[in-house]
Amino acid sequence: MSMAPIPATGGCLCGSIRYTVTETPAMSAVCHCRNCQQQSGSAYSVMIAVPLAALQFDAGQPRCYRDTGTSGQPVDRYFCGDCGSPLYSDVAVLPGMAFVKAGTLDDPAWVEPTQALWCDSALPSARLADDITRLPGNPPV
Ligand SMILES: [Zn+2]
Ligand SMILES: [Zn+2]
Repeated sequence: MSMAPIPATGGCLCGSIRYTVTETPAMSAVCHCRNCQQQSGSAYSVMIAVPLAALQFDAGQPRCYRDTGTSGQPVDRYFCGDCGSPLYSDVAVLPGMAFVKAGTLDDPAWVEPTQALWCDSALPSARLADDITRLPGNPPV
C-alpha cells in the first residue's frame, strides 16, 4: 500500500456522491461474508480501511442500512440512495474505521488486499493470490 495515491477520490455509480480519502489505508482486505456477497451482488467485497475522519464527502450524503454482521454486531452499510452503490461500512467490532468499497475509487488499481476475511463462506470460484492471509472471521483487533 506504499504507493497509495492519497488523497484518493471516488464516488458512486451515478455520481451524486463524491468522496475523498485523505489518509493512507491502514489495511486492505477482501470480505467473503454472506452479507457482503448479498450487498455487493458479487463474490466478495474489496475494502480499504481508513479512520472515519479520513473519509470526507464532497458531494451528496450516503444513506445507511444498519445490518447485523456475521459477528452478530451492527454493521452500518452506507450506500447511494439514488443508484445503490455500496460506499463504505462502519463496523461495530472495529470501531472508528471506515471500510471503503475499493471498487468505488476513481482509480482502484493500486489496492492490493493482504487479508481475506470470513473465508468459511468464500465461493469456490473466488480464487485469490496465494500470499493473501486467509481468516475465518474479522481481522484480529
Ligand atoms: Zn449514486
Ligand atoms: Zn463482509
